[in-house]
Amino acid sequence: MKFDTACVALGRPENPGDPLNTPVIPASNFLLGAGTSYSREDGTDGWRDLEEIVGRMEGGSALAFASGMAAVSAVLECLPAGGRIVLPDDCYQGVAAAAEAGAKRQRWSVTRLDVTDLDAWILAAQEADLLWLESPTNPLLRIADLAAICSIPRRPGCIVAVDNTFATPLNQRPLHLGADLVVHSATKFMGGHSDLLCGMVVSANRDLVDPLMRSRTLGGAAPGALEAFLTVRGLRTLSVRLEKAQQNAIQVADFLTRQKAVETVRYPGLKTDPGHQLASRQLGGYGSIISFDMAGGASQASMVCENVEIIRHATSLGSVESTMERRGAIAGQEHLPAGLLRISVGIENGDDLIEDLRQAIDRSG
Ligand code: PLP
Repeated sequence: MKFDTACVALGRPENPGDPLNTPVIPASNFLLGAGTSYSREDGTDGWRDLEEIVGRMEGGSALAFASGMAAVSAVLECLPAGGRIVLPDDCYQGVAAAAEAGAKRQRWSVTRLDVTDLDAWILAAQEADLLWLESPTNPLLRIADLAAICSIPRRPGCIVAVDNTFATPLNQRPLHLGADLVVHSATKFMGGHSDLLCGMVVSANRDLVDPLMRSRTLGGAAPGALEAFLTVRGLRTLSVRLEKAQQNAIQVADFLTRQKAVETVRYPGLKTDPGHQLASRQLGGYGSIISFDMAGGASQASMVCENVEIIRHATSLGSVESTMERRGAIAGQEHLPAGLLRISVGIENGDDLIEDLRQAIDRSG
């Protein structure tokens, strides 16, 4: 079964007379005596549908969590006391903040590295308990050579986890490239409509899945019934949404490269992008996230955000609607270029998006 089929065909009831979609069952507890008694401990049919689809696409056993950060926290929670984490110097700031908070409590130590610097990862891997990767990275869209990093000789017990949120399993399957764990903010592309929070962890290694499941049960970071249903509903259309968004992104990136007011366009689909060759080998598609720097810095970038009319000035990404924000405006992200805008290209008409950006950039001086 191809992955676009898996998104549509899996995770459905099977018995004659069943509804085509598993209904939302808003229940915490069930009458005792058959299977499920308490949803946080036993899971629900809605979670199992979601886990079946994502597990099949990534090539392992999937666990659904209350959010991407709940999934991330469960992975960090499994580290031994005094463990060492190697983290990209560019990655989702929530992951970095969670890792730094644990380091402050002396729970573990953190080393930050450029994902494109393979030699540095080879060196750091000798002492690490967790290599945390994100590719493409958020928000600088750097590309890590996942197969190369996953094949670095590691000390026993050292785990490689890949945040695959930006690529989705349709474009990249880290477990097939040698990773031990895959993490998703299903809030983004999988849900796809900016109306839920959900996270996933996937692994083919039972020794990793079991403690993560225990962590979910005891930590209580279980997904809600409606959120699981909506994530499955989002997955049904993931392949068409992603295809359209990627087509738009290529057009938008190309447009941005021709604007005098734009200094740098970061998008792995551009031939001029430093990650282009590796991305072409590693990814099934270049994704729909673009970062670009306004030559006029923070003030001009903020004006562009105010002046867009179709594109929403909002955080987050991976939804049907295009969203854009100045990432350097976020606390803890001041190291980013001040004029950097990250746009998550949606599924609107590509020409309309370009026209919207053109008028917003023109009106922003
Ligand atoms: N990973 C990446 C790459 C993200 O962009 C985000 C959120 O923006 C997360 C993880 C965290 O996910 P959530 O917001 O669902 O907790």
